[in-house]
Parts: sequence; structure tokens; C-alpha cells
Amino acid sequence: MKIAVVGAGAMGSLFGALLAEAGEDVWLVDIWREHVEAIQSGGLTVESGGSRRKVGLKATLDPGAAAGAQLVVIFVKSTQTAAAAATAASLAGKSGCVLTLQNGMGNAETLAEAVPADRVVVGTTSHGATLLGPGRIRHAGKGPTTIGPWSAEPKAGERAQKIAETLTGAAIDAEVVEKVLPILWNKLIVNVGINAITALTGIQNGQLLDLDITRDLSRSAVAEAVSTARAQDIAVREKAVSHVFDVAAATAANRSSMGQDIDNKRLTEIDAINGYVVREARRAGVAAPVNQTLTALVKTLEAHY
Ligand code: NAD
Repeated sequence: MKIAVVGAGAMGSLFGALLAEAGEDVWLVDIWREHVEAIQSGGLTVESGGSRRKVGLKATLDPGAAAGAQLVVIFVKSTQTAAAAATAASLAGKSGCVLTLQNGMGNAETLAEAVPADRVVVGTTSHGATLLGPGRIRHAGKGPTTIGPWSAEPKAGERAQKIAETLTGAAIDAEVVEKVLPILWNKLIVNVGINAITALTGIQNGQLLDLDITRDLSRSAVAEAVSTARAQDIAVREKAVSHVFDVAAATAANRSSMGQDIDNKRLTEIDAINGYVVREARRAGVAAPVNQTLTALVKTLEAHY
């Protein structure tokens, strides 16, 4: 299958490498010249579980090189989804599909403005990756990937199934669900409970659990997100708070992705995470003062780097 990965940073490079190793015809499309040139000249170095391997991959700054892709995988940060959507539309042409496994919400909606909704597939992944430098990534964690069609058209479900088979064939175990919104919200809720708080305070995920007062803050942010989802009849997990705390404990030594963005003075995905909860809560008539405060603080920090 001809596959274009738009946004070939940590996750895009990882998925691109795994798909290429499975024999797919993969193009990495990125705007970061040093990274693209490093892959063009020496391949992508993937560190994983103490070992290191080189993967030969096609990489380009020119999206035109990947035109006619049957699948376009979007792995830009959510702040760049609109730009990536325009690229995806040109690459996918009249029949290609677009898959997003980005964090946060609103990405599928943005993609479905550029590509017909019945060709947009969306989901979450528990794989993790870290960018080590141009042409170098670490495969930081493995886990399930869950995807589903963005549209209710029967054809869209078949497309999601085909994509799941392609991913699974590349050691990215993927399953398809008919209703993907609860999956997206459950992942959103974890990010809502951990990311902004750790980002603002400079702590690691596990330190979120050290003080009652920090746990209460996370609990309140999560409760607002859960109420917002339920107000929209989205069946999110029952014990959301304890799940968030379990994830914080299981990733205790990690700095959240939003924390890393703040540390490196980059724009964060706050608008697609806590900011999304604020907007949806307003629509649903639910109060979300904690998420509003977290969003305002992160956006203030970003504005004054
Ligand atoms: P990253 O910053 O490493 O990579 C993003 C890449 O997109 C960069 O290489 C950047 O140059 C490129 N880019 C920006 N604008 C572009 C454009 N218009 N066209 C093409 N490329 C463009 O980010 P990441 O960590 O790989 O995360 C990507 C997404 O996946 C985010 O939504 C993140 O939340 C999500 N995610 C990350 C992980 C992880 O472990 N890193 C795990 C699950 C989900």
C-alpha cells in the first residue's frame, strides 16, 4: 500500500518505520529539513529496548512526491492539523483514506473539512515514541491501537477494517470499534487529568499523586470532562479518576508531552485537550472552571515564552 505519513516526528517516524519494515511503500512528509535530510542520507535510527536499528525510508519536504497515497497517516501536533489536512487532501486524491491517531480532540473534524468524512478514520494508540534528534527516535512503549470510522457509512467501517489489518501486519496491533467517540474521550480524559497540571508545575507524571491537593485538582478537571461527555451521551469509563491516577503511576518517571512542550517553549496541544473540554462544556451547559483556569494558565505561559 502506498502510505504517506504527514508529520514525521517521533510518532510519524515510528509508524512509518514499522509500516516500511512490513513491506509497505511509505513516504515520510515533514517540514523539518534537517530531519528529512538525515533520513534521506542515512535512514532512520530506531532505538528500542536497548537495541538500535536503521530503517531505510523515503522522506520528503515536498508532499507532491507522495501523491496518490492510499493511506495518509496524520502525526502532526494538533496545532498543525489544519495545515496537515490540506496536505492530506492533496495526497489522498479521490480514493485515499486519512487516519489520525493524534492526541486531543477536534482533529477528525478538521480533517473531515478537507477530505470526505467517510474516508476519515480516527483512533488512539498506546505506542509511545521520543524524538532524539534529526533522523533518530526511540520507541518508548508499546500497546494497543484502537480505530474507528468517523462516518457511519458502512463503507467507512470497511475502510477502517482494512487499515487495522495493515497496521496489525506491521506489528501495530489494531482493532476496530464501530463507535470511536468514547475511545477518544477516554484518552482525552487521561490527558485532561495529567498534562496541563504537570506542564504548569514542572513535575513528572507520578508526582501528580504525591499531594492530596494536586490529586484534587486532577480529580476536578477529570470530573468536568466526564460530566461534559455524559451530557452528550458519550459513554466514558465509569472509574475515570482512578484510571487517570493509575496511568500517572504507571508512567511515574515520564514528563507529559505538554510538559515537554512547555519545557522547550513550544506551542502545546492545550486547545485540543483542556480547551476542548471548556468549549464542549459550554455547549452542553456544564460548568468547567478548573479546565478553564488550566487552559488560561497554559496559554498565558505560551504567550510569554
Ligand atoms: P512531534 O513534535 O515529534 O512530531 C510532529 C512533526 O510534525 C514534526 O516533525 C514537525 O516538523 C511536523 N510538522 C509540523 N507541521 C507540519 C506540516 N504542516 N506538514 C508536515 N509536517 C509537519 O510530535 P509527536 O510526539 O510525534 O506527536 C504527534 C501527535 O501524536 C500528537 O498529537 C501527540 O499528542 C500524539 N501522540 C504522541 C505520542 C508520543 O509518545 N510521542 C503518543 C501518542 C500520541
